[in-house]
Amino acid sequence: EAKNRGRGTYAAYRREMRGRLEERALLERDLQFALGRGEITVSYQPMFDASSSRVLCYEALMRWTHPIRGSVSPADFIPIAEENLLIDELGGWLLYTSCAEAVKWPAHVKLAVNVSRLQLINNGFFATVVEALSLSGLSPDRLVLELTESAVLEMDDDLQDLVKRLNAIGVSFALDDFGSGYSSLNYIEKMRFSMIKIDPKFAQSSAEGSANSQAVVSAVVSMAKSLDMVVAAEGIEAGEQADAMRELGCTCLQGYHFAKPSAFVSPDRAASPNRRQVA
Ligand code: C2E
Ligand code: MG
Ligand code: MG
Ligand code: MG
Repeated sequence: EAKNRGRGTYAAYRREMRGRLEERALLERDLQFALGRGEITVSYQPMFDASSSRVLCYEALMRWTHPIRGSVSPADFIPIAEENLLIDELGGWLLYTSCAEAVKWPAHVKLAVNVSRLQLINNGFFATVVEALSLSGLSPDRLVLELTESAVLEMDDDLQDLVKRLNAIGVSFALDDFGSGYSSLNYIEKMRFSMIKIDPKFAQSSAEGSANSQAVVSAVVSMAKSLDMVVAAEGIEAGEQADAMRELGCTCLQGYHFAKPSAFVSPDRAASPNRRQVA
């Protein structure tokens, strides 16, 4: 009897796995054509100066509106794109499109673009960035590339060289989702990040009064200050979280509490608690 149940569970598991693989294969097929069919767009989410409440930067976030499935999260389609080398095409398009948008903003407002490890280690990446900047006319010092910890976990000579060349033309780097994975001081020492974005879980727990979380944030802030890095708190969903992170020394705030990602930008406006924008 137990044996039969086990077999039933295994069959269900097989069915589910097959379902997921088919699902993925379908998404993969459709993703090949998504850009050409105009289904890929860019949303922009502002990052605000914690004291003046002015917009410092917009983060470009890729959006895929599938004709049948509707909105597909980048968390789901970026990994698929990475496996199929589509990431270079999509990433290159996003870089160029967002740079062309950013030249229209006031000159003090920067553009942040997420870059995955596979894009970074591709030989053509430096040329893609240079091309996006020159075609759009965006000044390189307005472009910030956001990398996650996992993207820089293995820092080989090629990667270090690429980072140096990008730094040399004025492009800067932000460390995204800091504290979500294998935070290491190794690459902070090796890379010159201009910004650290602290993972949303620290804003949550700090606002809830976790002394441990507050101590970690304070330590990150003081390290960042001495290395001349801006500390941003991301994923701020409530006023108490904004207050907590501001008090702990974060000078840049981002999250649904202030503004959701949007196809439309208004760089002149200051942060105010979210007025239910369309994502
Ligand atoms: P990320 O770079 O850490 O971006 C932040 C994500 O959190 C975004 O989700 C954003 O919409 C969401 N978010 C912002 N504020 C809040 C908040 O207050 N609460 C909550 N719950 N979420 C908030 P999104 O747009 O779905 O992107 C997910 C991830 O996909 C990004 O994480 C980034 O790693 C990746 N991604 C997005 N666009 C691109 C891209 O163009 N290229 C690459 N390589 N990766 C991208
Ligand atoms: Mg990001
Ligand atoms: Mg992040
Ligand atoms: Mg955010």
